[in-house]
Amino acid sequence: MAIQHPPRFFSIGQLWNLARVTASLALSRLLGRPVTLATPVMLMVEPTTACQLHCPHCPTGRGELTRRGGNLTIANFRKLWDSIRPTPMLLQLWNQGEPLVNRETPQIVRHAAASGARVTLSTNVELLARGDLAEELVSAGLHELILSLDGATPESHASYRVGGRFDQVDQGIGRVVEARRSLKSRHPLLTWQFLLFRHNLHEVALAKTLAKRWGVDRILFKTAQLEAFEEGEGDRWLPEEPELRRYDLVNGSWVLRRAKRPFCKRIFASAVVQWDGSVVPCCFDKVGAFVVGNLLEQSFEEVWRGAKFQEFRQRILTGKRPPMCSNCTEGLSRLYARPKNRGKNPGGSFHLL
Ligand code: SF4
Repeated sequence: MAIQHPPRFFSIGQLWNLARVTASLALSRLLGRPVTLATPVMLMVEPTTACQLHCPHCPTGRGELTRRGGNLTIANFRKLWDSIRPTPMLLQLWNQGEPLVNRETPQIVRHAAASGARVTLSTNVELLARGDLAEELVSAGLHELILSLDGATPESHASYRVGGRFDQVDQGIGRVVEARRSLKSRHPLLTWQFLLFRHNLHEVALAKTLAKRWGVDRILFKTAQLEAFEEGEGDRWLPEEPELRRYDLVNGSWVLRRAKRPFCKRIFASAVVQWDGSVVPCCFDKVGAFVVGNLLEQSFEEVWRGAKFQEFRQRILTGKRPPMCSNCTEGLSRLYARPKNRGKNPGGSFHLL
Protein backbone atom coordinates (compact mmCIF):
# COMPACT_ATOMS: atom_id res chain seq x y z
CA MET A 1 0.00 0.00 0.00
CA ALA A 2 1.34 3.44 -0.98
CA ILE A 3 2.48 5.67 1.84
CA GLN A 4 0.48 8.83 2.31
CA HIS A 5 2.36 11.60 4.12
CA PRO A 6 0.63 14.19 6.28
CA PRO A 7 0.61 17.63 4.65
CA ARG A 8 3.71 19.67 5.53
CA PHE A 9 2.19 22.99 4.56
CA PHE A 10 -1.29 24.39 4.45
CA SER A 11 -2.77 25.76 1.24
CA ILE A 12 -3.37 29.45 0.57
CA GLY A 13 -7.10 28.75 0.78
CA GLN A 14 -6.76 27.18 4.23
CA LEU A 15 -4.62 30.07 5.51
CA TRP A 16 -7.05 32.62 4.10
CA ASN A 17 -9.89 30.79 5.83
CA LEU A 18 -7.94 30.94 9.10
CA ALA A 19 -7.69 34.71 8.70
CA ARG A 20 -11.44 34.88 8.14
CA VAL A 21 -12.05 32.85 11.31
CA THR A 22 -9.98 35.41 13.23
CA ALA A 23 -12.09 38.19 11.74
CA SER A 24 -15.30 36.30 12.62
CA LEU A 25 -14.20 36.01 16.25
CA ALA A 26 -13.36 39.69 16.51
CA LEU A 27 -16.59 40.86 14.86
CA SER A 28 -18.81 38.47 16.84
CA ARG A 29 -17.26 39.69 20.05
CA LEU A 30 -17.56 43.32 19.06
CA LEU A 31 -21.13 43.18 17.74
CA GLY A 32 -22.52 40.64 20.21
CA ARG A 33 -24.07 38.61 17.40
CA PRO A 34 -22.67 35.66 15.45
CA VAL A 35 -20.65 36.52 12.35
CA THR A 36 -19.47 33.49 10.38
CA LEU A 37 -17.23 34.63 7.55
CA ALA A 38 -15.30 31.35 7.43
CA THR A 39 -15.68 27.59 7.40
CA PRO A 40 -14.23 25.47 10.25
CA VAL A 41 -10.45 25.26 10.51
CA MET A 42 -10.86 22.20 12.68
CA LEU A 43 -13.40 19.40 12.60
CA MET A 44 -13.77 16.72 15.25
CA VAL A 45 -15.26 13.54 13.78
CA GLU A 46 -16.45 10.55 15.79
CA PRO A 47 -15.45 7.22 14.22
CA THR A 48 -17.52 5.18 16.68
CA THR A 49 -19.36 5.29 19.98
CA ALA A 50 -18.08 1.87 21.06
CA CYS A 51 -15.29 1.27 23.54
CA GLN A 52 -13.94 -1.82 25.24
CA LEU A 53 -13.06 -0.01 28.50
CA HIS A 54 -15.16 1.38 31.34
CA CYS A 55 -13.40 4.55 32.49
CA PRO A 56 -15.27 5.99 35.49
CA HIS A 57 -15.42 9.59 34.21
CA CYS A 58 -16.32 8.92 30.58
CA PRO A 59 -20.00 8.93 29.49
CA THR A 60 -19.37 5.89 27.29
CA GLY A 61 -17.54 4.02 30.04
CA ARG A 62 -20.31 4.92 32.48
CA GLY A 63 -22.99 3.66 30.09
CA GLU A 64 -24.57 7.13 29.98
CA LEU A 65 -24.35 7.79 26.25
CA THR A 66 -28.09 7.90 25.65
CA ARG A 67 -27.96 8.62 21.91
CA ARG A 68 -27.98 5.83 19.30
CA GLY A 69 -24.53 4.31 18.81
CA GLY A 70 -22.68 3.01 15.74
CA ASN A 71 -19.67 3.29 13.44
CA LEU A 72 -18.91 5.92 10.80
CA THR A 73 -18.34 4.30 7.38
CA ILE A 74 -15.63 5.48 4.99
CA ALA A 75 -18.35 6.20 2.39
CA ASN A 76 -20.19 8.52 4.78
CA PHE A 77 -16.96 10.14 5.89
CA ARG A 78 -16.03 10.95 2.27
CA LYS A 79 -19.47 12.41 1.67
CA LEU A 80 -19.47 14.74 4.66
CA TRP A 81 -15.78 15.64 4.57
CA ASP A 82 -15.72 16.45 0.85
CA SER A 83 -18.65 18.84 1.30
CA ILE A 84 -16.43 21.28 3.25
CA ARG A 85 -14.23 23.65 1.27
CA PRO A 86 -11.54 24.62 1.91
CA THR A 87 -10.56 21.41 3.65
CA PRO A 88 -10.23 21.99 7.41
CA MET A 89 -6.59 22.29 8.50
CA LEU A 90 -7.05 19.80 11.30
CA LEU A 91 -9.14 16.68 11.75
CA GLN A 92 -9.44 15.40 15.31
CA LEU A 93 -10.50 11.82 14.87
CA TRP A 94 -12.22 10.97 18.12
CA ASN A 95 -15.13 11.97 20.31
CA GLN A 96 -17.00 9.42 22.36
CA GLY A 97 -15.82 5.80 21.95
CA GLU A 98 -12.44 4.36 20.98
CA PRO A 99 -11.54 5.25 17.34
CA LEU A 100 -9.61 2.03 16.73
CA VAL A 101 -12.72 -0.09 17.31
CA ASN A 102 -13.83 1.07 13.85
CA ARG A 103 -11.93 -1.00 11.28
CA GLU A 104 -12.33 1.74 8.65
CA THR A 105 -10.48 4.33 10.74
CA PRO A 106 -7.19 4.00 8.74
CA GLN A 107 -9.10 4.65 5.50
CA ILE A 108 -10.66 7.74 7.05
CA VAL A 109 -7.19 8.98 8.06
CA ARG A 110 -5.87 8.37 4.54
CA HIS A 111 -8.70 10.24 2.85
CA ALA A 112 -8.40 13.27 5.13
CA ALA A 113 -4.59 13.41 4.88
CA ALA A 114 -4.72 13.12 1.09
CA SER A 115 -7.12 16.06 0.97
CA GLY A 116 -4.68 18.29 2.89
CA ALA A 117 -5.66 18.01 6.58
CA ARG A 118 -3.45 17.10 9.50
CA VAL A 119 -5.10 14.21 11.29
CA THR A 120 -4.77 13.64 15.02
CA LEU A 121 -6.18 10.54 16.65
CA SER A 122 -6.57 9.91 20.37
CA THR A 123 -6.61 6.28 21.51
CA ASN A 124 -6.58 4.19 24.67
CA VAL A 125 -3.95 2.09 22.81
CA GLU A 126 -5.45 -1.28 23.78
CA LEU A 127 -6.18 -2.29 20.15
CA LEU A 128 -3.08 -0.88 18.49
CA ALA A 129 -1.31 -4.25 18.32
CA ARG A 130 -4.20 -5.81 16.36
CA GLY A 131 -3.20 -7.19 12.93
CA ASP A 132 -1.48 -4.60 10.75
CA LEU A 133 -3.27 -1.66 12.33
CA ALA A 134 -0.12 0.19 13.43
CA GLU A 135 1.39 -0.06 9.91
CA GLU A 136 -1.91 1.00 8.33
CA LEU A 137 -2.11 4.12 10.49
CA VAL A 138 1.47 5.14 9.79
CA SER A 139 1.13 4.59 6.04
CA ALA A 140 -2.25 6.40 5.98
CA GLY A 141 -0.55 9.70 6.85
CA LEU A 142 -1.56 10.16 10.48
CA HIS A 143 0.03 13.35 11.79
CA GLU A 144 -0.22 12.76 15.54
CA LEU A 145 -1.23 9.83 17.71
CA ILE A 146 -2.29 10.73 21.26
CA LEU A 147 -1.72 7.85 23.65
CA SER A 148 -4.29 8.29 26.42
CA LEU A 149 -2.70 6.43 29.31
CA ASP A 150 -2.81 7.40 32.94
CA GLY A 151 -0.42 5.03 34.61
CA ALA A 152 3.03 3.54 34.20
CA THR A 153 2.26 0.20 35.84
CA PRO A 154 -0.45 -2.41 35.19
CA GLU A 155 -2.09 -1.59 38.53
CA SER A 156 -2.47 2.13 38.11
CA HIS A 157 -3.36 1.75 34.41
CA ALA A 158 -6.32 -0.46 35.31
CA SER A 159 -7.38 1.81 38.19
CA TYR A 160 -8.87 4.31 35.76
CA ARG A 161 -8.79 2.46 32.42
CA VAL A 162 -11.08 -0.18 33.84
CA GLY A 163 -10.83 -3.41 31.84
CA GLY A 164 -7.52 -2.32 30.30
CA ARG A 165 -4.38 -4.46 29.97
CA PHE A 166 -0.98 -2.85 30.19
CA ASP A 167 0.72 -5.67 28.30
CA GLN A 168 -1.48 -4.87 25.28
CA VAL A 169 -0.60 -1.20 25.58
CA ASP A 170 3.09 -2.08 25.68
CA GLN A 171 2.77 -4.24 22.56
CA GLY A 172 0.72 -1.61 20.71
CA ILE A 173 3.23 1.17 21.28
CA GLY A 174 6.05 -1.16 20.26
CA ARG A 175 4.21 -1.91 17.01
CA VAL A 176 3.66 1.72 16.06
CA VAL A 177 7.26 2.72 16.89
CA GLU A 178 8.48 -0.19 14.79
CA ALA A 179 6.09 0.67 11.93
CA ARG A 180 7.34 4.24 11.89
CA ARG A 181 10.93 2.99 11.76
CA SER A 182 10.39 0.35 9.06
CA LEU A 183 8.36 2.73 6.88
CA LYS A 184 11.00 5.44 7.39
CA SER A 185 8.34 7.90 8.49
CA ARG A 186 8.71 10.72 11.00
CA HIS A 187 4.97 10.53 11.60
CA PRO A 188 2.83 10.16 13.54
CA LEU A 189 4.16 12.29 16.34
CA LEU A 190 3.64 10.13 19.42
CA THR A 191 2.23 12.11 22.34
CA TRP A 192 1.60 10.39 25.65
CA GLN A 193 -1.26 12.21 27.41
CA PHE A 194 -1.16 11.37 31.11
CA LEU A 195 -4.18 12.50 33.16
CA LEU A 196 -3.16 13.50 36.67
CA PHE A 197 -5.16 11.62 39.30
CA ARG A 198 -4.57 11.20 43.00
CA HIS A 199 -3.64 7.54 42.51
CA ASN A 200 -0.98 8.02 39.81
CA LEU A 201 1.09 11.04 40.92
CA HIS A 202 3.78 8.79 42.34
CA GLU A 203 4.39 7.42 38.84
CA VAL A 204 5.41 10.67 37.16
CA ALA A 205 9.13 9.85 37.15
CA LEU A 206 8.43 6.30 36.07
CA ALA A 207 6.24 7.52 33.21
CA LYS A 208 8.99 9.82 31.92
CA THR A 209 11.44 6.92 31.95
CA LEU A 210 8.98 4.65 30.24
CA ALA A 211 8.20 7.28 27.59
CA LYS A 212 11.88 7.38 26.63
CA ARG A 213 12.15 3.66 26.65
CA TRP A 214 9.08 3.22 24.46
CA GLY A 215 10.34 5.86 22.01
CA VAL A 216 7.37 8.22 22.30
CA ASP A 217 8.16 11.81 21.34
CA ARG A 218 6.68 13.71 24.25
CA ILE A 219 4.66 13.27 27.40
CA LEU A 220 2.07 15.81 28.50
CA PHE A 221 0.59 15.82 31.99
CA LYS A 222 -3.00 16.99 31.79
CA THR A 223 -5.38 17.94 34.58
CA ALA A 224 -8.29 15.52 34.78
CA GLN A 225 -11.87 16.36 33.86
CA LEU A 226 -14.57 14.88 36.03
CA GLU A 227 -17.80 13.81 34.39
CA ALA A 228 -19.78 13.24 37.56
CA PHE A 229 -19.62 15.02 40.88
CA GLU A 230 -21.27 12.61 43.26
CA GLU A 231 -20.25 12.69 46.89
CA GLY A 232 -16.61 11.73 47.29
CA GLU A 233 -15.71 11.56 43.56
CA GLY A 234 -13.51 14.68 43.66
CA ASP A 235 -11.69 13.45 46.78
CA ARG A 236 -11.22 10.07 45.20
CA TRP A 237 -9.73 11.17 41.88
CA LEU A 238 -8.40 14.72 42.09
CA PRO A 239 -4.87 15.47 43.35
CA GLU A 240 -4.69 17.33 46.66
CA GLU A 241 -2.31 19.91 45.13
CA PRO A 242 -4.36 22.75 43.53
CA GLU A 243 -1.75 23.25 40.78
CA LEU A 244 -2.32 19.69 39.55
CA ARG A 245 -6.08 19.95 39.11
CA ARG A 246 -8.52 22.27 37.31
CA TYR A 247 -11.18 22.42 40.03
CA ASP A 248 -11.36 24.19 43.38
CA LEU A 249 -13.49 23.09 46.28
CA VAL A 250 -15.92 25.95 46.92
CA ASN A 251 -18.53 25.53 49.69
CA GLY A 252 -18.30 21.77 49.35
CA SER A 253 -18.61 21.68 45.51
CA TRP A 254 -15.88 21.24 42.90
CA VAL A 255 -15.84 24.31 40.64
CA LEU A 256 -13.78 24.81 37.47
CA ARG A 257 -10.98 27.35 37.89
CA ARG A 258 -11.07 29.63 34.84
CA ALA A 259 -11.87 33.10 33.48
CA LYS A 260 -15.27 34.36 34.70
CA ARG A 261 -16.90 34.88 31.31
CA PRO A 262 -14.70 33.14 28.73
CA PHE A 263 -15.35 33.92 25.11
CA CYS A 264 -16.12 30.67 23.28
CA LYS A 265 -13.96 30.51 20.13
CA ARG A 266 -14.77 26.94 19.21
CA ILE A 267 -18.26 27.55 17.91
CA PHE A 268 -16.83 29.89 15.24
CA ALA A 269 -13.75 27.85 14.34
CA SER A 270 -14.86 24.23 14.61
CA ALA A 271 -17.68 21.73 14.96
CA VAL A 272 -18.15 18.12 16.00
CA VAL A 273 -19.61 15.50 13.67
CA GLN A 274 -21.02 12.41 15.33
CA TRP A 275 -20.76 8.97 13.69
CA ASP A 276 -24.18 9.33 11.99
CA GLY A 277 -23.39 12.71 10.41
CA SER A 278 -25.24 14.79 12.99
CA VAL A 279 -23.41 17.96 14.01
CA VAL A 280 -23.11 19.38 17.52
CA PRO A 281 -21.36 22.64 18.43
CA CYS A 282 -18.56 21.16 20.53
CA CYS A 283 -17.25 17.99 22.16
CA PHE A 284 -18.85 18.89 25.51
CA ASP A 285 -22.22 18.05 24.03
CA LYS A 286 -21.60 14.36 24.55
CA VAL A 287 -25.18 13.16 24.39
CA GLY A 288 -26.18 15.24 21.35
CA ALA A 289 -28.46 17.67 23.20
CA PHE A 290 -27.80 20.49 20.70
CA VAL A 291 -27.80 18.90 17.26
CA VAL A 292 -27.68 21.71 14.68
CA GLY A 293 -28.02 19.61 11.54
CA ASN A 294 -26.78 16.51 9.71
CA LEU A 295 -24.04 16.55 7.07
CA LEU A 296 -25.34 13.36 5.44
CA GLU A 297 -28.75 14.92 4.90
CA GLN A 298 -28.04 18.63 4.45
CA SER A 299 -25.40 20.69 2.73
CA PHE A 300 -22.53 21.98 4.81
CA GLU A 301 -23.72 25.58 4.32
CA GLU A 302 -27.20 24.72 5.60
CA VAL A 303 -25.71 23.33 8.79
CA TRP A 304 -22.79 25.70 9.47
CA ARG A 305 -24.71 28.94 8.83
CA GLY A 306 -28.17 27.52 9.47
CA ALA A 307 -30.64 28.93 11.98
CA LYS A 308 -29.97 26.27 14.65
CA PHE A 309 -26.23 26.80 14.78
CA GLN A 310 -26.59 30.60 14.67
CA GLU A 311 -29.17 30.51 17.48
CA PHE A 312 -26.81 28.40 19.56
CA ARG A 313 -23.94 30.83 18.91
CA GLN A 314 -26.18 33.75 19.86
CA ARG A 315 -27.14 32.00 23.07
CA ILE A 316 -23.50 31.52 24.02
CA LEU A 317 -22.60 35.10 23.07
CA THR A 318 -25.33 36.52 25.27
CA GLY A 319 -24.33 34.46 28.29
CA LYS A 320 -27.31 32.06 28.29
CA ARG A 321 -25.03 29.07 28.46
CA PRO A 322 -26.26 25.50 28.94
CA PRO A 323 -24.93 23.49 31.92
CA MET A 324 -22.31 21.69 29.77
CA CYS A 325 -20.40 25.01 29.47
CA SER A 326 -19.66 24.97 33.20
CA ASN A 327 -17.29 21.99 32.74
CA CYS A 328 -15.62 23.22 29.53
CA THR A 329 -11.97 24.01 28.87
CA GLU A 330 -12.61 27.40 27.18
CA GLY A 331 -10.85 30.00 29.36
CA LEU A 332 -9.34 27.32 31.58
CA SER A 333 -6.16 28.34 33.39
CA ARG A 334 -4.81 24.84 33.98
CA LEU A 335 -5.24 22.43 31.12
CA TYR A 336 -1.73 21.01 31.48
CA ALA A 337 0.52 20.88 34.55
CA ARG A 338 4.15 20.22 35.38
CA PRO A 339 4.19 17.76 38.26
CA LYS A 340 7.47 17.25 40.07
CA ASN A 341 9.09 13.89 39.72
CA ARG A 342 7.83 11.59 42.42
CA GLY A 343 8.48 8.02 43.23
CA LYS A 344 11.59 6.12 42.43
CA ASN A 345 12.99 6.58 38.96
CA PRO A 346 13.96 3.02 38.13
CA GLY A 347 16.63 3.92 35.56
CA GLY A 348 18.18 1.06 33.64
CA SER A 349 17.01 -1.78 35.89
CA PHE A 350 13.36 -1.17 35.08
CA HIS A 351 11.05 -4.04 34.18
CA LEU A 352 7.76 -3.12 32.57
CA LEU A 353 5.62 -6.12 33.43
S1 SF4 B 1 -19.14 23.82 26.27
FE1 SF4 B 1 -19.97 25.88 25.85
S2 SF4 B 1 -18.26 27.31 26.12
FE2 SF4 B 1 -17.42 25.23 25.90
S3 SF4 B 1 -16.94 24.98 23.73
FE3 SF4 B 1 -18.98 24.18 24.06
S4 SF4 B 1 -20.35 25.88 23.65
FE4 SF4 B 1 -18.31 26.75 23.93
